[in-house]
Amino acid sequence: MKMYIGGAWVEGKEKIEVLNPFDGSVLDTVPKATPQDVETALASAARGAQAMAKLTAYQRYQILHKASELMAERLEDLGRTITLEEGKVIAEGRGEAARAQETITLSAEEAKRLSGETLPLDGASNGAGKFGFTLRVPCGVVAAVTPFNFPLNLVCHKVGPALAAGNSVVVKPATDTPLSALKLTQVLLDAGLPPEGIQCITGSGGVIGDQLCGDPRVRKITFTGSKDVGEHICKVAGLKKVTMELGSNAPVIVMSDADLEKVASATAATGFANAGQVCISTQRILVNQKVYGDFIDALKPKVDALKTGNPIADGVKMGPMIREQDAVRVNEWVHEAVAKGARLVTGGTRQGTMHAPTVLADVDPKMRVSCDELFGPAVALTRFDDIDEAIALANDSNYGLSASIFTQNIDWALKFARQVQSGNLHVNWGTMWRADMMPYGGLKDSGMGKEGPKYAVEEMTELKLVVFH
Ligand code: NDP
Repeated sequence: MKMYIGGAWVEGKEKIEVLNPFDGSVLDTVPKATPQDVETALASAARGAQAMAKLTAYQRYQILHKASELMAERLEDLGRTITLEEGKVIAEGRGEAARAQETITLSAEEAKRLSGETLPLDGASNGAGKFGFTLRVPCGVVAAVTPFNFPLNLVCHKVGPALAAGNSVVVKPATDTPLSALKLTQVLLDAGLPPEGIQCITGSGGVIGDQLCGDPRVRKITFTGSKDVGEHICKVAGLKKVTMELGSNAPVIVMSDADLEKVASATAATGFANAGQVCISTQRILVNQKVYGDFIDALKPKVDALKTGNPIADGVKMGPMIREQDAVRVNEWVHEAVAKGARLVTGGTRQGTMHAPTVLADVDPKMRVSCDELFGPAVALTRFDDIDEAIALANDSNYGLSASIFTQNIDWALKFARQVQSGNLHVNWGTMWRADMMPYGGLKDSGMGKEGPKYAVEEMTELKLVVFH
């Protein structure tokens, strides 16, 4: 595919191959953007911001609503594109496409709801005779830098609210998975978006990222990806608004009264979907010592039953990792844990990009499979004695994106909700659950700012105060 900059679809002198992570075949190529291409995109985005600011909220609603209708017509193609370039199984690819459409629908609605508030200034000691209100105005140019693992829906979570708020947006999709974002760009143009309201520039983040994120014409950066890249972008950005959706090593607490069959089913679903490459994948499972052995007995058959293979084939439950080097890394961390005393319950093997669904028991929280972000198809089990120890273990992490507890005890559940340092907290399901309308974002090194169109649309605006004297 071509990239879309300066109001046109353009080729590049150099190309990047987009590979199918399952078999390494070349799906397509995209241009490798140059510094001149970034300049073209930014200059165009600055003009696009002026065009977007002239649209009424209703016009922005109409464009996004039309885009949602077009996505509905193209869902099968979008779902297959996601699976082919990213490697998640086709049911998950279709699921992501459907969620992305919902995200755009929610964004369309928010375009109409964006408002300021009147301020009761005469309640201030010096406020007699004053009338004040706030106005929400677009930031201008928004740069949206996105990861490989949800190549459509996470782009929609940025582009939808940015356009709803009246900004222009420059999308920089992950180099491994740019096709879904390019198809979304076509959808938006077909829906009537001003031609310079969006740019979709392809190329290595390490090469073009600093130019894009450091440019003063960009007023807002919304990033989803790894902590290290997020931190780097914050330094390069300087004085700009930023939203950072970063990594995690999400913990699940299994109390002694938990329904172990349910925990095992939830773990198979939330630890291994997309081969564990989800920011809220269940990674650390903290199990009360009274039920530790029984839980392993319940979990092993469910993990062994996960059929792996070509993700485009119906019935396959887990596909490849995005790159072979990531599967190699996961395998190294698993075997490093075993060498240090962890027990391999199942899995532990790798062939190319395919890593077997893996369960490790007796994991020391200091092992990398527990304390770092694994981002792969393995879960690490650690024993605890009581709720206080479980909460301390859950909080023993620089991250804080999602956490869960399984219990029937309302006091334990409430203590978990109050004391665990995490942006998302789930009771009686795994850590990987999201409805696109909800506020979503992490604490600590997992980031700052919230997504979910109702919340993201505010982050895509500046608040102005007006006082009539
Ligand atoms: P990366 O951080 O490697 O890349 C994310 C994006 O940043 C890519 O588009 C990448 O481009 C770009 N990038 C890389 N270097 C720079 C730079 N110097 N300046 C600007 N942009 C740059 O993440 P992954 O794609 O590997 O995604 C996995 C990570 O994303 C995990 O840590 C995961 O937890 C996190 N994530 C967080 C979510 C959340 O909601 N909190 C949701 C999903 C994922 P290129 O591809 O060209 O390198």
